[in-house]
Amino acid sequence: MDRNALASVADAIHGASSVVAMTGAGVSTASGIPDFRSEDGIWTKYDPNDFHISRFRSDPGEFWRERVEMVEDVFGGDVRPNAAHEALTALEAEGYLETLITQNVDGLHQAAGSEDPIEIHGNGQRVVCTDCDRRFEVDPVMEQVKGGETPPTCKHCDGILKPDVILFGEQLPKNDLLRAQKASKDADVFLAIGSSLTVEPAASLPRYAVDRDGTLCIVNLDPTDLSDRAEYDFRADVTEFLPALAEHVIDR
Ligand SMILES: [Zn+2]
Repeated sequence: MDRNALASVADAIHGASSVVAMTGAGVSTASGIPDFRSEDGIWTKYDPNDFHISRFRSDPGEFWRERVEMVEDVFGGDVRPNAAHEALTALEAEGYLETLITQNVDGLHQAAGSEDPIEIHGNGQRVVCTDCDRRFEVDPVMEQVKGGETPPTCKHCDGILKPDVILFGEQLPKNDLLRAQKASKDADVFLAIGSSLTVEPAASLPRYAVDRDGTLCIVNLDPTDLSDRAEYDFRADVTEFLPALAEHVIDR
């Protein structure tokens, strides 16, 4: 890792009035969650069409049965926050990180203690009622499905429950997206972490920051679509880079 470049990112964070971090799949893979799009990612094993909103609408029972199978496969192990999640929580707690945006739906930022991450793709730890919009914990619902109660329904209004994640073909939550866009436009420093920056809106959020002369710092194992616009572009393991960065920022 280039220590000088790391130190100058830390300087930029110290001099910034607003720092935004956005995390993608690369932050979750270090916790044992497989990537979706990589060579041996989730979508090589499951058909994305089975998790499309139209499939949910036409056959919610079958959708849920396959969903439970996939979730057990993907999250079945001992999944916990890693050093990258913890470093971001430390930066937030010390007042150096104003906004945390995540593409991940695993809830690991909250598990690490982050207060209010903007989850642009939702949160798989919850379900939402398609009629009354109430939200519930997913675990009891998974048990219902395993027990043959499909599709699972809302205990208040009997509406059909949906995972509280953005399915293929679904609109992103408008308020969350607006919050993420505003924070990105106001960012003096934008940290894009573990994301290939190919899927919208993750691709355009860092661009807002750069277009307004914010400093873009990318940390990813592979080059990204925005690497040529980044002032700092680290090919690094996020679980090594972020703790080192947090230490630089906090300990001086
Ligand atoms: Zn309901």
